[in-house]
Amino acid sequence: MSFSSNVRDELSRVEEHHPCCRKSELAALLRGGLCLRRVSGQFRLLFVSEHAALLRHVFSTVKTLYHSGPEVMVLKTHRFRDHAVYRLDFSALASGFDEKGLLHDCGIEVAGDRLNYLPWRPKAKCCRRAYLRGCFLATGSISDPDRSYHLEISFPDALLLSEFQSFLHEYGIDAKHITRKGHLLAYLKEGQEIVDFLNISGAHISLMQLENIRILKDVRNQVNRIVNCETANLEKTVNASFRQMDHIRYLDSHVGLDSLPDGLREVARLRLEHSEVSLQELGDMLNPVLTKSGVNHRLRKLEQLAMQEREKHPQVPV
Ligand SMILES: [Zn+2]
Repeated sequence: MSFSSNVRDELSRVEEHHPCCRKSELAALLRGGLCLRRVSGQFRLLFVSEHAALLRHVFSTVKTLYHSGPEVMVLKTHRFRDHAVYRLDFSALASGFDEKGLLHDCGIEVAGDRLNYLPWRPKAKCCRRAYLRGCFLATGSISDPDRSYHLEISFPDALLLSEFQSFLHEYGIDAKHITRKGHLLAYLKEGQEIVDFLNISGAHISLMQLENIRILKDVRNQVNRIVNCETANLEKTVNASFRQMDHIRYLDSHVGLDSLPDGLREVARLRLEHSEVSLQELGDMLNPVLTKSGVNHRLRKLEQLAMQEREKHPQVPV
């Protein structure tokens, strides 16, 4: 199962104890998930999903609150083996209620061939939190955290999108939004925001899984940074060493290393013999031992001498 479907599974099993919260979660589920479809010439009010645990959850919530459940249909598809799409048909249930029925409670109006939404503003914070969970359950998805951090929820209407954003804003999370192929999408891209969302909506097991992956990724990044940094330093040392050796060889062939003062000659010989070692290591090889800056000073002196010598013998371009 994908991470997204694990989260949906976990959230489908969250038990809300207050009826106010159950109603609020159901409202988010139906506002986001119900659609009007023409089936054999008639408009049907459907909630369609491939997720069995979610369908069970919606069915039992409606049944508990309204003492009557929607019709359940299972459609087998041939795309994959054992793959089923579940359909809850609310048509009978919705028309069987008067003004104070299920749709009214969820702030949904059927207007011809489309659904209208009335503003949804529960007074209690617990209910707004349940609403956020319902939004994800209805149309949310989340990418595998091994690959990237991305959570998105699509909404059939701008009002629903802005409600979701404002409820989430109460927790200090600002969801961004875009329109993609005619769908309004709210999305989160930061690992920390997604962790917070999982916490708010009650997906605590998924939250722990995501945190573990985040820690692993973090350690991996740190190791990579250290390796990259060391590689860069090594490259610098090697480049400097090649430049120094070039100058020293020039001096050797034009004036001879034996003509140099003892201190310089010693460093020059060691550099030629040990191209790969650092200045500190060169210093340690000398007798008496010389500090890094002492070695650096002598190498600069050698470079200077070489430059002066080169000026005496200008290279004639061939
Ligand atoms: Zn509540």
